[in-house]
Amino acid sequence: MYKSSKISDKRLFNSIYIEENAFEFPITREILKNHSSTPIIKIRNYKDVFNRPKQNFSIQKHNQSLILAVKKDNFLYKGPEVCQNFGHTNFCYTSFLLNCVFDCEYCYLQGMYPSANLVAFVNTEQYKQAIKDAASNKPIYLAASYDTDLIAFHNAIPYMEYFYDFFKANTDITVEIRTKSGNESFYRNYPPTENVIIGFTLSPEGIIKKFEKHTPSLDIRLKAIRTAISEGYKIRICLDPIFINPGTDALYEPFFQYIFDKIHSDDILDVGYGFFRMSHDFFKRIEKQNNSWLFAQDYSHYNDVVSYPLETQEEIKSKHIDILSKYIKKERIFTL
Ligand code: SF4
Repeated sequence: MYKSSKISDKRLFNSIYIEENAFEFPITREILKNHSSTPIIKIRNYKDVFNRPKQNFSIQKHNQSLILAVKKDNFLYKGPEVCQNFGHTNFCYTSFLLNCVFDCEYCYLQGMYPSANLVAFVNTEQYKQAIKDAASNKPIYLAASYDTDLIAFHNAIPYMEYFYDFFKANTDITVEIRTKSGNESFYRNYPPTENVIIGFTLSPEGIIKKFEKHTPSLDIRLKAIRTAISEGYKIRICLDPIFINPGTDALYEPFFQYIFDKIHSDDILDVGYGFFRMSHDFFKRIEKQNNSWLFAQDYSHYNDVVSYPLETQEEIKSKHIDILSKYIKKERIFTL
């Protein structure tokens, strides 16, 4: 194990941990070149750092370290029931990066991982092979910015650059990159490809301010959407998670109207819509360590999922879909 001694106050990461077998990969070489003033710590296995007991997720979130690792197995996972498949039956997700640079108060990652540090897997070629194998019998729908925001992290590790030619060449893979980022240069630098969809998560400004720490404002996201549209990208608008807590319900009608004042529905592919929901285990873990108002509300528990009572969901959903269908055809609104 060794540490560099130079400290720069412009450091993006507190420290960079690197698995001993991850040094020879292009991503690692780039990171070492661009972060010469950050302490580098050589490790045997990323789990020795990431899975350490008694870490404090919220403290680490303010001062994240980066861990570069080689993924050994499980390159792809079956899409979970609580996520939308947008009509695709062969739905998988992959995680090149664990954790996120944003800090949403409702994020399930706080209950899923023992650490808020970022793990970036560097063996991109093995991911490509696994994705190709999964698509060999049947086209797949791949959520590639799952458990993270790849576009927000693009200036640190440009994963899309590593995967761009691969996705472009393999049209039997439909890729969704979900983001809250306002990084417009991304869309100017990478021409759109037919099988890549950018899913922008939008929330009312009041929700962004309250629950989505470090994320761009609604206007900045809408501006990024307009840039992506003008560059020819396929765009999905994700209205997810929707909150039904006191004080939030009134935000939605003007919010829907605002979006479609700024974005023409003919310029987008579809809309995803879903309520705040979380696996029971993650919710319980977060509830214990987090005193957020959000986790102290009354929710219903069903099929291992914590969310709003189903009757309330149905009532609000029907109201919202009626409003949204003034702007976009119901067939293009996907709900859970
Ligand atoms: S952007 Fe998504 S992954 Fe990142 S913190 Fe927010 S909810 Fe979690």
